[in-house]
Amino acid sequence: MFGLPSLTKLLVLAGIILAVWYGFRFVGKLDAARKVQAKQQGRGPKANKGRAPRAAVPDAEEMVACPACRAYVPATNPSNCGRPDCPY
Ligand SMILES: [Zn+2]
Repeated sequence: MFGLPSLTKLLVLAGIILAVWYGFRFVGKLDAARKVQAKQQGRGPKANKGRAPRAAVPDAEEMVACPACRAYVPATNPSNCGRPDCPY
């Protein structure tokens, strides 16, 4: 029952192992490419939509609401929203 495995069985086994190995490598490459793409797209303004803003936390800034337009602007560098009664 547990005799020496034949060469054919060993070759088939090696083939299966190689196929699984290359399969995992292929999936890993696809995943890495996907991550790089996500990183490059992540430089856009709405990168963290639907995701936990892990990278955005160090860049957090104090925001103040404009009394005229109720838009939130950075407290350190407020920008005018375009309305004539905007105080910024
Ligand atoms: Zn405003």
